[in-house]
Amino acid sequence: MNEISQIFEIVNFGLVILDSELKVKHWNQWMARHSGIDAERITGAFLLDFFPELKTPRFLRSCKMVLAFGNFSFFSQKLHHFLFPFRPDGAFKSMFEHMQQNCTLGPLRNDFNAVNGIFLIVQDVTELASYEQKLVEMNMKDGLTGIYNRRFLQTRLIEECQRHERYDAKLSLIMFDIDFFKKVNDSYGHQCGDSVLKSVTASIASILRKTDYLARYGGEEFCCLLPHTGLTAAHRLAERFRRQVEALETPCQGHDIKVTISLGVAELRKEDSEETLLNRADEALYSAKSSGRNCTAAIA
Ligand code: GH3
Ligand code: MG
Ligand code: MG
Repeated sequence: MNEISQIFEIVNFGLVILDSELKVKHWNQWMARHSGIDAERITGAFLLDFFPELKTPRFLRSCKMVLAFGNFSFFSQKLHHFLFPFRPDGAFKSMFEHMQQNCTLGPLRNDFNAVNGIFLIVQDVTELASYEQKLVEMNMKDGLTGIYNRRFLQTRLIEECQRHERYDAKLSLIMFDIDFFKKVNDSYGHQCGDSVLKSVTASIASILRKTDYLARYGGEEFCCLLPHTGLTAAHRLAERFRRQVEALETPCQGHDIKVTISLGVAELRKEDSEETLLNRADEALYSAKSSGRNCTAAIA
């Protein structure tokens, strides 16, 4: 084994050499380890027979461009996620179904400078992609409840209001607040208070549509943004939230804690900004609190 071949075998990324018919000439140990296919088995075979998922127009076109013009081609994780469907390392299995990869294709030339093969480099960037994903999530999700945070809600609200202006689509907002939540903390402790916040949001999230956005607006105050929903339907949904929470019991430290919520509903009007819509939902919530709590109020 010459020096180059030794390096070829120990590098911490995948290296493949293909001939001009896309038959495998070299397959390093990294590729063997992650694919479960030994070099002896795949050498001489048509790569796409082993990986039919590579038979995409984009991959075939890239190979053609490398062979015909000596071009380089890059498959970035951001755009393609992966080229070879390998399993990710243990720690990332819950986050990604496949190892995230950056892949490069380039030309190999013979002594006469004519392209007669392709090299393929496969880099595992799963760890980096996982950090990126976590950062994106932390930026838009609330740490305690896992629902969207106020910043995300604000951005969505602005976008949805603009959409409303452009397409005249309906948009409603439910704002709700847990009744006498201070008492929960005082009676059962802060940890149980946290458990209640988690179970209330989880139970409401379970009855939402995929297109709705549930966000934590403040301590024990939440907003639910409902695109394509008018006031009557939003009011009906708010009442479902209320009954759902009323029936909920949160077990904590030997107690089954019950709470209720008060809700305010508002629908976006022509002259509204995101701020006036929020203010109106807040007003409606205030009116629900004044009417004795555990009820829904709407401002048309
Ligand atoms: P009302 O029916 O008028 O809403 O009464 P309330 O007691 O719910 O309202 P108040 O605003 O007086 O109290 C809210 C409490 O929520 C006070 C605060 O300590 C608690 N809280 C806010 N955020 C958290 C949190 O993340 N965890 C816990 N356990 N408590 C929180
Ligand atoms: Mg409250
Ligand atoms: Mg409050």
